[in-house]
Amino acid sequence: MILAFKNVEFNYLNQPVFSGLNFTLEQNEFCFLIGKSGSGKSTFLQMIYMNILPEYGRITFDKFDSQSIKSKELPLLRRKLGIIFQDFKLLNDRNLYDNLAFVMEATNKSKSEIRKRVNDSLTDVGLSHRRYSFPKELSGGEKQRVAIARALVNDPLLILADEPTGNLDPATSLEILEILKKINSRGTAVIFATHNYDLIKSFNAKIIKIEDGKALNVVMKPKQ
Ligand code: ADP
Ligand code: MG
Repeated sequence: MILAFKNVEFNYLNQPVFSGLNFTLEQNEFCFLIGKSGSGKSTFLQMIYMNILPEYGRITFDKFDSQSIKSKELPLLRRKLGIIFQDFKLLNDRNLYDNLAFVMEATNKSKSEIRKRVNDSLTDVGLSHRRYSFPKELSGGEKQRVAIARALVNDPLLILADEPTGNLDPATSLEILEILKKINSRGTAVIFATHNYDLIKSFNAKIIKIEDGKALNVVMKPKQ
């Protein structure tokens, strides 16, 4: 088990979000996270990178514990995570290579190791030939592939994807899912928040639904 929520409660000022929330994730697991808009999917993911801490209960991820984590440990925690957003969040003033090298800057890795990791990660998403292109020269799907490469560059234990296909057409969405499946098959856990039922139905993975402040297991038959 790499991640556990135990009896977690969290409220925004006047807005209850979670109470009695339990969830666990195994190393190598792929999990879809569903739930209607405003149900708390993004908040759930933010609790994993400990941007938000629970008011009651406990979250453990790898060796980190929400009850004892210190702010100076947050960069170490975040290096164990790769995070992907709907709007890509690439740095538009640098090329793809530099977008990836940037997130390795604080890791004390040698220049040659950074070069290898950046090139390997771009190769994983089929974009190493574009390493000197700028984000504005890419399609939406290509931008999301760069964001996936950036999420991979520090060799994370877990990838968090917050509606990563929200801005993409169906065929491109499927491509993004395929890349994340491939990464998962090599041993990286993935949590994929989405509204896209076609994607969910296309892959037999664990499905968790956020509803009424809790995380419920959902069983869905894969598409024939
Ligand atoms: P989802 O990602 O499932 O759409 P969110 O996690 O973004 O849901 O939001 C869960 C609830 O918390 C919503 O009711 C939302 O309005 C509220 N919320 C989200 N972020 C904040 C915030 N920074 N301050 C106050 N309320 C928030
Ligand atoms: Mg959200």
